[in-house]
Amino acid sequence: MKSQYRVVVIGGGVVGASVLYHLAKFGWTDVVMLERRRLASGSSWHAAGGIHALNADPNMAALQAYTIDLLSEIEKESGQNIGLHMTGGLTLAGTPERWEWLQANYRIFQSIGIDDCELLTPQEAQRRCPIMSTDGVLGAMWADREGYIDTTGTVQAYATAARKRGAEYYEDTKVERLIQTADGWQVVTDKGTITCEHVVNAAGLWAKQVGRMAGVELPVSPLKHHYLITDTVPEVAAAEFEMPMTVDLEGFTYMRQDQKGILVGIYEINHEHWAMDGAPWNYGEELFQEQLDRIENELMLGFARYPSIQDVGIKTWVNGAFTFSPDGNPLVGPVPGKRGYWSACAVMAGFLQGGGVGKTLAEWMIHGEPEADAMSMDVARYGDYAQNKRYIRETTGQFYSRRFVMSYPNEQLPAGRPLKMAPAHDAMTAAGCRWGVSWDLEVPLYFAPSKDFVENLTLKRSNAHPIVAEECRVIREGVGLMDITGFSRFEVSGPNAEAWLDKLFATKLPAPGRARLAVMLSETGRLKGDLTLLNWGDGTWWIMGSYYLRAWHMRWFNDHLDDGVAVRDLGEEICGFALVGPKCRAVIEKLAEQDISALKFMGCGDFDIGLVRARVARMSVTGEMGYEINCRYGEHIALRRMLLEAGAGEGIREVGFNALLSTRIEKSFGIWSAEFTQDRTPGMTAMDRWIAWDKGDFIGRDAAIAERDGNGPARVQVTLEVDAADADASGYEPVWADGKQIGFVTSGAYGHYTGKSLAMALVDRDKAQPGTAVSVHVVGVERPAVIIAPSPYDPEGKAMRG
Ligand SMILES: Cc1cc2nc3c(=O)[nH]c(=O)nc-3n(C[C@H](O)[C@H](O)[C@H](O)COP(=O)(O)OP(=O)(O)OC[C@H]3O[C@@H](n4cnc5c(N)ncnc54)[C@H](O)[C@@H]3O)c2cc1C
Repeated sequence: MKSQYRVVVIGGGVVGASVLYHLAKFGWTDVVMLERRRLASGSSWHAAGGIHALNADPNMAALQAYTIDLLSEIEKESGQNIGLHMTGGLTLAGTPERWEWLQANYRIFQSIGIDDCELLTPQEAQRRCPIMSTDGVLGAMWADREGYIDTTGTVQAYATAARKRGAEYYEDTKVERLIQTADGWQVVTDKGTITCEHVVNAAGLWAKQVGRMAGVELPVSPLKHHYLITDTVPEVAAAEFEMPMTVDLEGFTYMRQDQKGILVGIYEINHEHWAMDGAPWNYGEELFQEQLDRIENELMLGFARYPSIQDVGIKTWVNGAFTFSPDGNPLVGPVPGKRGYWSACAVMAGFLQGGGVGKTLAEWMIHGEPEADAMSMDVARYGDYAQNKRYIRETTGQFYSRRFVMSYPNEQLPAGRPLKMAPAHDAMTAAGCRWGVSWDLEVPLYFAPSKDFVENLTLKRSNAHPIVAEECRVIREGVGLMDITGFSRFEVSGPNAEAWLDKLFATKLPAPGRARLAVMLSETGRLKGDLTLLNWGDGTWWIMGSYYLRAWHMRWFNDHLDDGVAVRDLGEEICGFALVGPKCRAVIEKLAEQDISALKFMGCGDFDIGLVRARVARMSVTGEMGYEINCRYGEHIALRRMLLEAGAGEGIREVGFNALLSTRIEKSFGIWSAEFTQDRTPGMTAMDRWIAWDKGDFIGRDAAIAERDGNGPARVQVTLEVDAADADASGYEPVWADGKQIGFVTSGAYGHYTGKSLAMALVDRDKAQPGTAVSVHVVGVERPAVIIAPSPYDPEGKAMRG
């Protein structure tokens, strides 16, 4: 072992080994992995080794598909047998809604390139898995690329392949301390100290402690998990083919063949956390005693699904632990505020996600950004609030217990909530507000007409549809009041603020007293932000954006900060309300002490609104005239009361974010994580119209110019009108023309005011002309659609300019 490396990877489980392999593969060979015991001696040795493609999150499904394809490659490269059994796999649906969901997901998989799936009847499924009872099964999805592997062999294969490419690894070497230096890190081990530029926390069950070694509190916790392996099952022994990997979602079990018996794993509803502060250092290749009382119900369902196992013995019980983040996705990437400290933790399914995690992290470290959009696993998708132990316990427990439970897009889950509430929260609740959550904050969805209203859970339009329709009508014809605490606000100041912003944004900076939509690009010219820049004219600027991206944007700002610039996140200080709708000016004029009618569209300034000294911007997300009134937290309740009183004569009504999402799609306004993601470019998303080509240098300029002057993007953003009477597109549904997939939906919603089911989509450029007839699968059913000109509501933008 040398005393200096470029990278030290801490942890020799499947994730650390995959990171090591990918670093070496992409050209960084001065890298070492340290393992305190033997390779795979954390969670990895006792995993069930199941690999399957299905994941409710399309980004994670794509990551899993990459990992599965990689397995045979590393087997070949390393020469290490990984016991790969590609048996194919089944996912069973046991309720009508689940069957609908599975059919919808089958189409979404087609969108993201997973095209080895097929839908089966219960009888067809049973032919492929003859030991299964079809009781209660309504349908199934088959995927070719599913099966199982030998876990220890797989970790060994990653490590061996990495070593063949020049990387090193050492067992029986425990990292005990981390010391940050000017150039990187000192890694203090029980075998001596190593100096390096980067450390990677891939410590699995010990990720919490290895985080704390660097002063980092990661939102991660281990939970226990059971599986059993049976003695020989006669039907299995007699079969001429292997049983497929089978996931019974309604039964909370997964099953695969194990020699001549089967392995049945259980996602326990009655979950149990373990060692929330990290596994003990003396924890070795140990297991917990099985806890049958905790899993009795799921076990009975498993026995009913595979009746023949009732007659054979159970050979082995495994009750082991593995780690979860609050939303179940990995925590990957550069940890904010800790230069050179990288996370590769909370990988719940290391054998089906570890390959993709390793690839993503290695690309990020070497090239500065991953190739694909990594938002759904970015460690910076959480803020400091997620360090709280109870928050971690509630959210990780909720995810674990619901792992196989059907989720609905309009479902609100309770874990870790309510946490942060805007000051007027209680008054708004009394007015009927129904809340969603963004990051730590409760955000208004809509205002129910009565306390007794219960929204039904559905993949289609819910019974809240008419309520949102009425809120949209208020926005388009009258005046609505919307709590905008759920926007992010950053203040930029200092002598070099203007020069810094000019470099950071591809857009021309707004003049004093003006605001502008501002595009931020990465060095490779891909999107990094769809923000709004406000120049208050007193030397301070605001950057406004999506609330849930607060830590993510702050990391970017800090990574690019210059001397003479201060960036402050105002998210704990400033909140506000927006007035939206044609009658909003009449309301604000009643309260403004200054002449606010002189404030033009995209103007901003300081005004006295009633008793509140507010920063006001005339902006519009809905396509209507709108004023965003920003106040301090302590003034939120008073501001709401004054606006409601002033608006009474105009029929003011409170409205929520569901109406915002409907009105914004009627304007074809894109949003982050839907139309705008880190793997898309300005040309693809029409964000190029905001680029100031004639200004000086800015981050991503060369790449943006290359795109502009090149052949153009293969796919571009369009708006679709879909012929759908009961459901709307949501995202990732395939778009078809002449029997060929030409693209996919980026987001969809019902346009209540236009009376159209609308979607935005990325489609092949030669099929992007308005008038092109296409079709879209919405909740699994193919529906006719047509590409329309952008902004079906008020295309000339007269309403918002007022
Ligand atoms: C019962 C069970 C069944 C499962 N089934 C599946 C399955 O079918 N498919 C699937 O994909 N996943 C499955 N999993 C999950 C899978 O085991 C984990 O996702 C995976 O093992 C995580 O790998 P890791 O490398 O992140 O962590 P670990 O395997 O925990 O590896 C971390 C390593 O870091 C080392 N380490 C920690 N601290 C230090 C230090 N300070 N210095 C040096 N070394 C250190 C540890 O010794 C350990 O070897 C299952 C898990 C369980 C419990």
